[in-house]
Amino acid sequence: MRVLSVASECVPLVKTGGLADVVGALPAALAVHGVEMRVLLPAYRGLKPGKRARLVWQGKDPSGQTVTVSHSEVAGISLLLLDAPQWFDRPGSPYLDENGQDFADNAFRFAALSWVAARLCIDGLDDGWRADLLHAHDWQAGLAAAYLHFQQASTPSLLTIHNIAFQGIARSQWRHALALPASGFTPQGYEYFGNISMLKAGIVYSSRVTTVSARYAEELMRPQFGMGLEGVLASRRDHFHGILNGVDTSVWSPERETHAAPYHANALATKDRNRKALLQQLGLDKVDGPLLIVVSRLTQQKGLDLLPDLLPAFFSAGGALAMLASGDAALEARFGEIARAHPGRMSLHVGYNEELAHQLFAGGDAVLVPSRFEPCGLTQLYGLCYGTVPVVAATGGLADTVIDANPAALASGVATGIAFHPVDQTALGEALRRLQRLFADRKGWRRIQRRGMRQPIGWENSAQHYATLYQTAIDSAAS
Ligand code: ADP
Repeated sequence: MRVLSVASECVPLVKTGGLADVVGALPAALAVHGVEMRVLLPAYRGLKPGKRARLVWQGKDPSGQTVTVSHSEVAGISLLLLDAPQWFDRPGSPYLDENGQDFADNAFRFAALSWVAARLCIDGLDDGWRADLLHAHDWQAGLAAAYLHFQQASTPSLLTIHNIAFQGIARSQWRHALALPASGFTPQGYEYFGNISMLKAGIVYSSRVTTVSARYAEELMRPQFGMGLEGVLASRRDHFHGILNGVDTSVWSPERETHAAPYHANALATKDRNRKALLQQLGLDKVDGPLLIVVSRLTQQKGLDLLPDLLPAFFSAGGALAMLASGDAALEARFGEIARAHPGRMSLHVGYNEELAHQLFAGGDAVLVPSRFEPCGLTQLYGLCYGTVPVVAATGGLADTVIDANPAALASGVATGIAFHPVDQTALGEALRRLQRLFADRKGWRRIQRRGMRQPIGWENSAQHYATLYQTAIDSAAS
Protein backbone atom coordinates (compact mmCIF):
# COMPACT_ATOMS: atom_id res chain seq x y z
CA MET A 1 0.00 0.00 0.00
CA ARG A 2 1.38 3.41 -0.97
CA VAL A 3 0.48 6.44 1.10
CA LEU A 4 1.31 10.08 0.50
CA SER A 5 1.63 11.90 3.83
CA VAL A 6 1.28 15.69 3.53
CA ALA A 7 2.26 18.04 6.32
CA SER A 8 3.93 21.32 7.17
CA GLU A 9 6.38 19.74 9.66
CA CYS A 10 8.30 16.50 10.01
CA VAL A 11 10.94 15.42 12.52
CA PRO A 12 13.93 15.63 12.18
CA LEU A 13 13.67 18.11 9.29
CA VAL A 14 11.38 20.84 10.61
CA LYS A 15 9.53 21.00 13.93
CA THR A 16 7.50 23.49 15.91
CA GLY A 17 5.35 20.99 17.88
CA GLY A 18 4.06 17.46 18.38
CA LEU A 19 2.69 17.31 14.81
CA ALA A 20 6.25 17.01 13.53
CA ASP A 21 6.98 14.07 15.85
CA VAL A 22 3.99 12.14 14.52
CA VAL A 23 4.63 12.86 10.84
CA GLY A 24 8.27 11.84 11.27
CA ALA A 25 7.50 8.64 13.18
CA LEU A 26 4.69 7.26 11.00
CA PRO A 27 6.73 6.13 7.96
CA ALA A 28 8.92 3.70 9.92
CA ALA A 29 6.05 2.58 12.17
CA LEU A 30 3.85 1.85 9.15
CA ALA A 31 6.54 0.18 7.07
CA VAL A 32 6.16 -2.79 9.43
CA HIS A 33 2.55 -3.05 8.23
CA GLY A 34 3.46 -3.01 4.55
CA VAL A 35 2.78 0.70 4.03
CA GLU A 36 5.20 2.52 1.76
CA MET A 37 4.90 6.14 2.84
CA ARG A 38 6.34 9.22 1.20
CA VAL A 39 6.17 12.56 2.99
CA LEU A 40 5.47 15.77 1.06
CA LEU A 41 6.95 18.83 2.76
CA PRO A 42 7.53 22.42 1.62
CA ALA A 43 11.14 23.31 0.83
CA TYR A 44 11.48 25.95 3.54
CA ARG A 45 14.69 27.98 3.47
CA GLY A 46 17.55 25.72 4.47
CA LEU A 47 15.68 22.48 3.87
CA LYS A 48 17.55 20.74 1.08
CA PRO A 49 16.82 17.52 -0.79
CA GLY A 50 19.13 14.54 -0.31
CA LYS A 51 22.18 13.85 -2.51
CA ARG A 52 20.55 11.64 -5.11
CA ALA A 53 17.37 13.71 -5.44
CA ARG A 54 15.32 13.18 -8.61
CA LEU A 55 12.75 15.53 -10.05
CA VAL A 56 9.49 13.56 -9.96
CA TRP A 57 6.81 16.12 -10.76
CA GLN A 58 6.46 19.55 -12.29
CA GLY A 59 3.28 21.58 -12.60
CA LYS A 60 1.50 24.75 -11.62
CA ASP A 61 0.14 25.84 -8.25
CA PRO A 62 -3.28 27.56 -7.96
CA SER A 63 -1.62 30.94 -8.64
CA GLY A 64 -0.33 29.61 -11.97
CA GLN A 65 3.34 29.56 -10.93
CA THR A 66 5.50 26.62 -11.89
CA VAL A 67 6.55 24.46 -8.94
CA THR A 68 8.48 21.20 -8.76
CA VAL A 69 8.74 18.18 -6.49
CA SER A 70 11.91 16.17 -5.95
CA HIS A 71 12.25 12.80 -4.28
CA SER A 72 15.14 11.74 -2.05
CA GLU A 73 15.90 9.91 1.16
CA VAL A 74 16.68 12.33 3.98
CA ALA A 75 17.27 11.19 7.56
CA GLY A 76 15.41 7.94 6.91
CA ILE A 77 12.38 9.75 5.42
CA SER A 78 11.30 9.10 1.83
CA LEU A 79 10.94 12.80 1.19
CA LEU A 80 9.03 14.65 -1.50
CA LEU A 81 10.17 18.24 -1.33
CA LEU A 82 7.92 20.90 -2.85
CA ASP A 83 10.13 23.54 -4.38
CA ALA A 84 8.04 26.71 -4.53
CA PRO A 85 10.46 29.50 -3.57
CA GLN A 86 7.83 32.24 -3.83
CA TRP A 87 5.97 30.60 -0.94
CA PHE A 88 8.60 28.90 1.16
CA ASP A 89 12.10 30.25 0.59
CA ARG A 90 11.99 33.07 3.13
CA PRO A 91 13.33 33.79 6.61
CA GLY A 92 11.28 32.91 9.71
CA SER A 93 9.61 29.74 10.93
CA PRO A 94 7.14 27.66 8.88
CA TYR A 95 4.29 30.02 9.80
CA LEU A 96 5.78 33.19 11.25
CA ASP A 97 8.00 35.94 9.92
CA GLU A 98 11.12 37.13 11.69
CA ASN A 99 9.00 39.36 13.96
CA GLY A 100 6.85 36.46 15.09
CA GLN A 101 3.84 37.52 13.00
CA ASP A 102 1.83 35.07 10.87
CA PHE A 103 2.77 35.38 7.22
CA ALA A 104 -0.15 37.24 5.60
CA ASP A 105 -0.20 34.74 2.71
CA ASN A 106 -0.24 31.55 4.82
CA ALA A 107 -3.53 30.44 3.25
CA PHE A 108 -1.96 30.59 -0.23
CA ARG A 109 1.28 28.96 0.87
CA PHE A 110 -0.42 25.90 2.31
CA ALA A 111 -3.08 25.82 -0.39
CA ALA A 112 -0.14 25.38 -2.79
CA LEU A 113 1.12 22.47 -0.69
CA SER A 114 -2.34 20.88 -0.64
CA TRP A 115 -2.88 21.47 -4.34
CA VAL A 116 0.36 19.76 -5.26
CA ALA A 117 -0.47 16.85 -2.92
CA ALA A 118 -3.75 16.32 -4.77
CA ARG A 119 -2.05 16.64 -8.18
CA LEU A 120 0.59 14.06 -7.17
CA CYS A 121 -2.25 11.61 -6.43
CA ILE A 122 -3.99 12.38 -9.71
CA ASP A 123 -0.96 12.57 -12.03
CA GLY A 124 1.30 10.02 -10.34
CA LEU A 125 5.02 10.69 -10.06
CA ASP A 126 7.51 10.53 -12.92
CA ASP A 127 9.29 7.61 -11.26
CA GLY A 128 6.10 5.52 -11.47
CA TRP A 129 5.06 5.96 -7.85
CA ARG A 130 1.36 6.68 -7.22
CA ALA A 131 -0.39 6.93 -3.88
CA ASP A 132 -3.28 4.62 -3.00
CA LEU A 133 -4.29 7.08 -0.28
CA LEU A 134 -3.50 10.64 0.77
CA HIS A 135 -2.94 11.25 4.49
CA ALA A 136 -3.24 14.96 5.29
CA HIS A 137 -2.26 16.53 8.60
CA ASP A 138 -3.98 19.58 10.13
CA TRP A 139 -5.30 22.67 8.35
CA GLN A 140 -2.13 23.18 6.35
CA ALA A 141 -3.00 20.07 4.32
CA GLY A 142 -6.78 20.34 4.78
CA LEU A 143 -7.52 21.57 1.26
CA ALA A 144 -5.88 18.51 -0.32
CA ALA A 145 -9.04 16.44 0.17
CA ALA A 146 -11.17 19.28 -1.24
CA TYR A 147 -8.98 19.49 -4.34
CA LEU A 148 -9.25 15.73 -4.83
CA HIS A 149 -13.01 15.97 -4.44
CA PHE A 150 -13.51 18.88 -6.84
CA GLN A 151 -11.26 17.26 -9.45
CA GLN A 152 -13.29 14.04 -9.14
CA ALA A 153 -10.20 12.05 -8.25
CA SER A 154 -10.67 8.49 -7.05
CA THR A 155 -7.83 8.54 -4.49
CA PRO A 156 -9.27 8.25 -0.95
CA SER A 157 -7.99 10.56 1.75
CA LEU A 158 -7.62 10.72 5.51
CA LEU A 159 -7.26 13.88 7.57
CA THR A 160 -5.66 13.83 11.00
CA ILE A 161 -6.53 16.68 13.36
CA HIS A 162 -3.63 17.26 15.71
CA ASN A 163 -5.09 20.40 17.27
CA ILE A 164 -8.49 21.92 16.50
CA ALA A 165 -7.33 25.32 17.76
CA PHE A 166 -5.67 26.01 14.40
CA GLN A 167 -8.26 26.06 11.62
CA GLY A 168 -6.72 27.84 8.62
CA ILE A 169 -9.34 30.55 8.17
CA ALA A 170 -9.16 32.42 4.85
CA ARG A 171 -11.26 35.25 3.43
CA SER A 172 -14.13 34.30 1.16
CA GLN A 173 -12.80 36.71 -1.53
CA TRP A 174 -9.75 34.45 -1.86
CA ARG A 175 -11.87 31.57 -3.11
CA HIS A 176 -10.87 32.04 -6.77
CA ALA A 177 -7.20 32.46 -5.99
CA LEU A 178 -7.37 29.31 -3.88
CA ALA A 179 -8.96 27.41 -6.80
CA LEU A 180 -12.06 26.49 -4.80
CA PRO A 181 -15.33 26.24 -6.75
CA ALA A 182 -18.34 28.28 -5.65
CA SER A 183 -20.41 25.10 -5.31
CA GLY A 184 -18.50 24.20 -2.15
CA PHE A 185 -18.98 27.58 -0.47
CA THR A 186 -21.90 26.40 1.68
CA PRO A 187 -22.31 25.31 5.30
CA GLN A 188 -22.15 21.69 4.05
CA GLY A 189 -18.88 22.48 2.24
CA TYR A 190 -15.81 24.51 3.10
CA GLU A 191 -17.64 27.68 4.16
CA TYR A 192 -17.32 28.62 7.81
CA PHE A 193 -19.35 31.58 9.07
CA GLY A 194 -18.79 33.53 5.87
CA ASN A 195 -15.10 32.60 5.57
CA ILE A 196 -13.20 29.64 4.18
CA SER A 197 -11.96 27.09 6.70
CA MET A 198 -9.19 24.91 5.39
CA LEU A 199 -9.53 22.50 8.31
CA LYS A 200 -13.27 22.23 7.80
CA ALA A 201 -12.66 21.49 4.11
CA GLY A 202 -10.47 18.58 5.20
CA ILE A 203 -13.13 17.32 7.61
CA VAL A 204 -15.91 17.53 5.03
CA TYR A 205 -14.12 16.12 1.98
CA SER A 206 -11.78 13.48 3.43
CA SER A 207 -12.86 9.84 3.25
CA ARG A 208 -11.86 9.37 6.89
CA VAL A 209 -10.99 11.77 9.71
CA THR A 210 -8.89 10.95 12.74
CA THR A 211 -7.59 12.76 15.75
CA VAL A 212 -4.89 11.72 18.15
CA SER A 213 -6.82 10.10 21.01
CA ALA A 214 -10.23 8.50 21.44
CA ARG A 215 -11.14 10.86 24.27
CA TYR A 216 -10.25 13.96 22.21
CA ALA A 217 -12.38 12.58 19.35
CA GLU A 218 -15.36 12.42 21.72
CA GLU A 219 -14.57 15.85 23.14
CA LEU A 220 -14.31 17.43 19.70
CA MET A 221 -17.95 16.60 19.01
CA ARG A 222 -18.98 18.77 21.98
CA PRO A 223 -19.21 22.58 21.97
CA GLN A 224 -16.79 22.94 24.89
CA PHE A 225 -13.90 21.52 22.84
CA GLY A 226 -15.00 21.56 19.19
CA MET A 227 -14.24 25.28 18.68
CA GLY A 228 -17.14 25.65 16.28
CA LEU A 229 -16.45 22.44 14.35
CA GLU A 230 -18.31 20.11 16.74
CA GLY A 231 -21.34 19.89 14.45
CA VAL A 232 -19.44 19.03 11.32
CA LEU A 233 -17.37 16.46 13.20
CA ALA A 234 -20.48 14.91 14.72
CA SER A 235 -21.94 14.64 11.22
CA ARG A 236 -18.90 12.51 10.32
CA ARG A 237 -19.12 10.43 13.49
CA ASP A 238 -19.15 7.11 11.60
CA HIS A 239 -15.91 7.97 9.85
CA PHE A 240 -14.20 9.83 12.67
CA HIS A 241 -11.73 7.92 14.86
CA GLY A 242 -9.29 8.55 17.67
CA ILE A 243 -5.87 6.94 17.23
CA LEU A 244 -3.39 7.61 20.00
CA ASN A 245 0.03 8.96 19.12
CA GLY A 246 3.00 6.80 19.97
CA VAL A 247 6.42 7.85 21.16
CA ASP A 248 9.56 7.40 19.10
CA THR A 249 11.27 4.98 21.48
CA SER A 250 14.57 5.26 19.63
CA VAL A 251 14.72 8.83 21.00
CA TRP A 252 12.67 8.53 24.21
CA SER A 253 13.51 5.47 26.22
CA PRO A 254 15.33 5.29 29.58
CA GLU A 255 17.23 2.17 28.42
CA ARG A 256 18.76 4.06 25.48
CA GLU A 257 19.19 7.41 27.23
CA THR A 258 22.38 9.22 26.23
CA HIS A 259 21.90 12.51 28.10
CA ALA A 260 21.79 10.80 31.52
CA ALA A 261 22.65 7.33 32.85
CA PRO A 262 20.44 4.74 31.12
CA TYR A 263 18.19 2.60 33.34
CA HIS A 264 15.27 0.22 33.30
CA ALA A 265 12.32 -0.60 35.53
CA ASN A 266 14.32 -3.08 37.62
CA ALA A 267 17.24 -0.72 38.16
CA LEU A 268 15.61 2.41 39.50
CA ALA A 269 18.61 3.09 41.72
CA THR A 270 20.22 4.47 38.55
CA LYS A 271 17.27 6.83 38.15
CA ASP A 272 17.90 7.95 41.75
CA ARG A 273 21.50 8.74 40.78
CA ASN A 274 20.25 10.73 37.79
CA ARG A 275 17.99 12.62 40.19
CA LYS A 276 20.88 13.46 42.47
CA ALA A 277 22.99 14.67 39.55
CA LEU A 278 20.09 16.73 38.22
CA LEU A 279 19.43 18.39 41.59
CA GLN A 280 23.08 19.33 41.79
CA GLN A 281 23.20 20.57 38.20
CA LEU A 282 20.12 22.78 38.80
CA GLY A 283 21.20 23.99 42.23
CA LEU A 284 18.16 22.45 43.93
CA ASP A 285 19.55 21.73 47.41
CA LYS A 286 16.40 22.09 49.54
CA VAL A 287 14.40 19.12 48.35
CA ASP A 288 12.84 16.63 50.74
CA GLY A 289 9.79 15.70 48.69
CA PRO A 290 9.00 15.01 45.03
CA LEU A 291 10.96 16.72 42.26
CA LEU A 292 8.23 17.84 39.87
CA ILE A 293 9.21 18.66 36.31
CA VAL A 294 7.50 20.66 33.56
CA VAL A 295 8.55 20.56 29.89
CA SER A 296 6.07 22.62 27.95
CA ARG A 297 5.00 25.50 25.82
CA LEU A 298 3.49 28.25 27.95
CA THR A 299 0.08 28.90 26.44
CA GLN A 300 -3.49 29.06 27.72
CA GLN A 301 -3.96 25.45 26.49
CA LYS A 302 -1.30 24.08 28.82
CA GLY A 303 -2.99 25.36 32.02
CA LEU A 304 0.29 26.28 33.70
CA ASP A 305 -1.12 29.66 34.71
CA LEU A 306 -2.91 27.70 37.48
CA LEU A 307 0.39 26.71 39.06
CA PRO A 308 2.17 29.83 40.42
CA ASP A 309 -0.20 30.50 43.35
CA LEU A 310 0.08 26.88 44.48
CA LEU A 311 3.87 26.70 44.50
CA PRO A 312 4.66 28.26 47.91
CA ALA A 313 2.57 25.56 49.66
CA PHE A 314 4.09 22.84 47.47
CA PHE A 315 7.59 24.03 48.37
CA SER A 316 6.83 24.33 52.11
CA ALA A 317 5.66 20.73 52.05
CA GLY A 318 9.09 19.69 50.71
CA GLY A 319 8.52 19.61 46.95
CA ALA A 320 10.71 21.15 44.26
CA LEU A 321 10.09 22.21 40.68
CA ALA A 322 12.35 22.04 37.64
CA MET A 323 10.78 23.83 34.72
CA LEU A 324 11.80 24.02 31.06
CA ALA A 325 9.32 26.11 29.16
CA SER A 326 8.79 29.05 26.88
CA GLY A 327 5.90 31.02 25.45
CA ASP A 328 3.68 33.59 27.15
CA ALA A 329 6.02 36.39 28.29
CA ALA A 330 3.96 37.35 31.37
CA LEU A 331 3.93 33.76 32.57
CA GLU A 332 7.66 33.37 31.93
CA ALA A 333 8.21 36.45 34.09
CA ARG A 334 5.88 35.19 36.84
CA PHE A 335 7.70 31.85 37.08
CA GLY A 336 11.00 33.76 37.04
CA GLU A 337 9.91 35.74 40.12
CA ILE A 338 8.90 32.59 41.96
CA ALA A 339 12.18 30.86 41.12
CA ARG A 340 14.11 33.86 42.49
CA ALA A 341 11.97 33.88 45.65
CA HIS A 342 12.58 30.16 46.28
CA PRO A 343 16.24 29.42 45.58
CA GLY A 344 17.10 25.77 46.02
CA ARG A 345 13.46 24.82 45.46
CA MET A 346 12.80 25.88 41.92
CA SER A 347 14.81 26.13 38.72
CA LEU A 348 13.51 27.74 35.54
CA HIS A 349 14.96 27.45 32.05
CA VAL A 350 13.20 29.58 29.49
CA GLY A 351 13.78 28.27 25.96
CA TYR A 352 13.82 25.04 24.02
CA ASN A 353 16.43 22.49 25.10
CA GLU A 354 16.23 18.86 23.98
CA GLU A 355 19.13 17.69 26.17
CA LEU A 356 17.78 19.25 29.36
CA ALA A 357 14.33 17.80 28.56
CA HIS A 358 15.89 14.30 28.53
CA GLN A 359 17.75 14.97 31.79
CA LEU A 360 14.57 16.19 33.47
CA PHE A 361 12.67 13.03 32.54
CA ALA A 362 15.60 10.81 33.53
CA GLY A 363 15.99 12.49 36.95
CA GLY A 364 12.54 13.86 37.84
CA ASP A 365 10.01 12.15 40.12
CA ALA A 366 6.83 13.41 38.49
CA VAL A 367 5.85 15.41 35.40
CA LEU A 368 3.03 17.94 35.48
CA VAL A 369 0.68 18.38 32.48
CA PRO A 370 -2.35 20.44 33.61
CA SER A 371 -3.73 21.15 30.12
CA ARG A 372 -7.20 22.65 29.59
CA PHE A 373 -7.37 20.50 26.48
CA GLU A 374 -4.81 18.07 25.14
CA PRO A 375 -5.35 16.18 21.88
CA CYS A 376 -2.83 13.48 22.83
CA GLY A 377 0.14 14.91 24.68
CA LEU A 378 3.61 13.43 24.55
CA THR A 379 5.24 14.47 27.80
CA GLN A 380 2.94 12.33 29.97
CA LEU A 381 3.95 9.37 27.77
CA TYR A 382 7.65 10.18 28.26
CA GLY A 383 6.83 10.39 31.98
CA LEU A 384 5.27 6.92 31.98
CA CYS A 385 8.18 5.24 30.27
CA TYR A 386 10.80 7.09 32.36
CA GLY A 387 9.15 6.25 35.70
CA THR A 388 8.50 9.99 36.09
CA VAL A 389 4.95 9.73 37.32
CA PRO A 390 2.48 11.88 35.33
CA VAL A 391 0.25 14.36 37.14
CA VAL A 392 -2.28 15.35 34.49
CA ALA A 393 -5.60 17.02 33.85
CA ALA A 394 -8.19 14.35 33.00
CA THR A 395 -8.78 15.53 29.45
CA GLY A 396 -8.13 14.30 25.90
CA GLY A 397 -5.15 12.02 25.44
CA LEU A 398 -4.04 12.63 29.03
CA ALA A 399 -7.21 10.93 30.27
CA ASP A 400 -6.69 8.06 27.83
CA THR A 401 -3.14 7.29 28.92
CA VAL A 402 -2.92 7.88 32.68
CA ILE A 403 -4.85 5.85 35.27
CA ASP A 404 -5.51 7.94 38.34
CA ALA A 405 -4.22 6.64 41.66
CA ASN A 406 -7.62 6.74 43.35
CA PRO A 407 -8.25 4.20 46.13
CA ALA A 408 -9.92 1.68 43.79
CA ALA A 409 -7.11 1.85 41.21
CA LEU A 410 -4.47 1.57 43.93
CA ALA A 411 -6.23 -1.40 45.50
CA SER A 412 -6.46 -3.24 42.21
CA GLY A 413 -2.89 -2.34 41.25
CA VAL A 414 -3.54 -0.42 38.03
CA ALA A 415 -2.73 3.20 38.91
CA THR A 416 -0.04 4.88 36.78
CA GLY A 417 -0.31 8.53 37.84
CA ILE A 418 -2.56 11.29 39.10
CA ALA A 419 -5.41 12.65 36.98
CA PHE A 420 -7.42 15.60 38.26
CA HIS A 421 -10.65 17.24 37.23
CA PRO A 422 -11.89 19.91 36.66
CA VAL A 423 -8.95 21.92 35.39
CA ASP A 424 -8.88 24.60 38.05
CA GLN A 425 -6.65 25.70 40.87
CA THR A 426 -8.54 23.81 43.58
CA ALA A 427 -8.28 20.48 41.78
CA LEU A 428 -4.64 21.08 40.81
CA GLY A 429 -3.80 22.01 44.42
CA GLU A 430 -5.37 18.78 45.64
CA ALA A 431 -3.47 16.82 42.97
CA LEU A 432 -0.18 18.30 44.22
CA ARG A 433 -1.05 17.33 47.81
CA ARG A 434 -1.89 13.79 46.65
CA LEU A 435 1.46 13.71 44.86
CA GLN A 436 3.24 14.53 48.11
CA ARG A 437 1.33 11.80 49.97
CA LEU A 438 1.89 9.12 47.33
CA PHE A 439 5.57 10.02 47.07
CA ALA A 440 6.02 9.64 50.82
CA ASP A 441 5.00 5.97 50.57
CA ARG A 442 8.25 4.80 48.95
CA LYS A 443 7.17 1.23 48.17
CA GLY A 444 3.81 2.30 46.78
CA TRP A 445 5.57 4.97 44.71
CA ARG A 446 7.96 2.42 43.19
CA ARG A 447 4.99 0.27 42.20
CA ILE A 448 3.36 3.19 40.38
CA GLN A 449 6.64 4.02 38.64
CA ARG A 450 7.21 0.43 37.48
CA ARG A 451 3.64 0.01 36.29
CA GLY A 452 3.95 3.15 34.16
CA MET A 453 7.21 1.88 32.71
CA ARG A 454 5.45 -1.27 31.53
CA GLN A 455 2.77 0.62 29.57
CA PRO A 456 3.08 0.24 25.79
CA ILE A 457 3.75 3.76 24.53
CA GLY A 458 5.44 3.01 21.20
CA TRP A 459 3.77 3.12 17.81
CA GLU A 460 2.94 -0.60 17.49
CA ASN A 461 -0.80 -0.52 18.27
CA SER A 462 -1.52 2.81 16.66
CA ALA A 463 0.40 1.99 13.47
CA GLN A 464 -1.72 -1.13 13.10
CA HIS A 465 -4.84 0.98 13.59
CA TYR A 466 -3.78 3.47 10.87
CA ALA A 467 -2.90 0.67 8.46
CA THR A 468 -6.32 -0.93 8.97
CA LEU A 469 -8.09 2.39 8.50
CA TYR A 470 -6.11 3.13 5.31
CA GLN A 471 -7.15 -0.26 3.92
CA THR A 472 -10.81 0.29 4.82
CA ALA A 473 -10.80 3.70 3.11
CA ILE A 474 -9.12 2.26 0.01
CA ASP A 475 -11.57 -0.67 -0.13
CA SER A 476 -14.63 1.56 0.23
CA ALA A 477 -13.35 3.96 -2.43
CA ALA A 478 -12.92 1.03 -4.80
CA SER A 479 -16.37 -0.50 -4.18
P1 ADP B 1 2.36 20.37 21.95
O1 ADP B 1 2.60 19.75 20.59
O2 ADP B 1 0.96 20.86 22.17
O3 ADP B 1 3.38 21.38 22.33
P2 ADP B 1 3.00 17.71 22.98
O4 ADP B 1 3.06 17.19 24.37
O5 ADP B 1 2.19 16.93 21.99
O6 ADP B 1 2.50 19.22 23.07
O7 ADP B 1 4.48 17.81 22.37
C1 ADP B 1 5.41 18.71 22.87
C2 ADP B 1 6.80 18.27 22.43
O8 ADP B 1 7.70 19.37 22.51
C3 ADP B 1 7.39 17.20 23.34
O9 ADP B 1 8.28 16.40 22.56
C4 ADP B 1 8.16 18.03 24.39
O10 ADP B 1 9.21 17.33 24.99
C5 ADP B 1 8.69 19.13 23.51
N1 ADP B 1 8.93 20.40 24.23
C6 ADP B 1 8.02 21.32 24.62
N2 ADP B 1 8.63 22.37 25.20
C7 ADP B 1 9.94 22.10 25.19
C8 ADP B 1 11.09 22.82 25.65
N3 ADP B 1 11.00 24.02 26.23
N4 ADP B 1 12.31 22.25 25.47
C9 ADP B 1 12.41 21.02 24.89
N5 ADP B 1 11.36 20.31 24.43
C10 ADP B 1 10.14 20.84 24.58
